[in-house]
Amino acid sequence: MVSRTDRVGATSRTGPAASVSPGCPACGSHFTHSQAGIRSAAERTRRAGFDLIEYPLMDPFGFDAAVARAAVADNGLAVSASLGLSDATDISSEDAGAVAAGEALLRRAVEVTHEMGGVQVCGVLYSAMRKYVAPASEKGLVHSREVIGRVAEYGASLGVRLALEVVNRYETNILNTGRQALAYLAATGRDDVAVHLDTYHMNIEESDMTAPVLDCADRLGYVHIGESHRGYLGTGSVDFDAFFKALSRAGYTGPVVFESFSSAVVSPTLSNTLGIWRNLWQDGDDLGAHANAYIRGALRAVETIGLH
Ligand code: MN
Repeated sequence: MVSRTDRVGATSRTGPAASVSPGCPACGSHFTHSQAGIRSAAERTRRAGFDLIEYPLMDPFGFDAAVARAAVADNGLAVSASLGLSDATDISSEDAGAVAAGEALLRRAVEVTHEMGGVQVCGVLYSAMRKYVAPASEKGLVHSREVIGRVAEYGASLGVRLALEVVNRYETNILNTGRQALAYLAATGRDDVAVHLDTYHMNIEESDMTAPVLDCADRLGYVHIGESHRGYLGTGSVDFDAFFKALSRAGYTGPVVFESFSSAVVSPTLSNTLGIWRNLWQDGDDLGAHANAYIRGALRAVETIGLH
């Protein structure tokens, strides 16, 4: 997980879970998708101290859910899944073919998540994950909301919940802030779809690291922890103190997943999509262990605020 590719997850407060996620939502690396890669990711996630692993499902049709289910169980981990859509599967498109392909992919991702024992699918599920050169069209937004509504309903039948990740303007043209996510969800009309916040993206788009967490508190279901440059936590400009205090104030109890990328280990496709042009770390296991300690330390500290 951590090392290989890309993301590592870290923890949840209730049952503290830290996890690492191997891929980025945007793409799965070949490493992640091979059976050996799936197993190695789970083992390394556990060794780093996390208790949840987030597998990337960029291609849910080619992912071995049975192997993942066994790897997760063998390592005592909880599991979740993430992905980002492509142009060919963009449910915010005006093209009916792309919308249908995207819905089919999301439904399969929900099934795979269920098959490996997970209960959440997160990421850029509502549009392609790329830089758009124009705003989303009203027709495209309707398509996006309709598909998310139907997939959420299907997910509910399998006990799998969707969490829509708010990302920066260079990776989608639909949800760049927490408030936009709340408005999108209100229009979708389902109360079981969650907001997924990521500190790396918040640091680019939000007014601060506190207000979005409090604004989304009732709907916040998933969190990614990433530094401003996606490297070691604490070496960038993200105000983690404010963010973790806000999580505590909001009473958040969901997953807190560390996410990092390095061109040294991320697949070319993913690196290019996310703009990973330089190496910020080389030892993924050390990165993951450091992130796990950093996140758990922050969560532990804010737990004591109630005593103040
Ligand atoms: Mn993220």
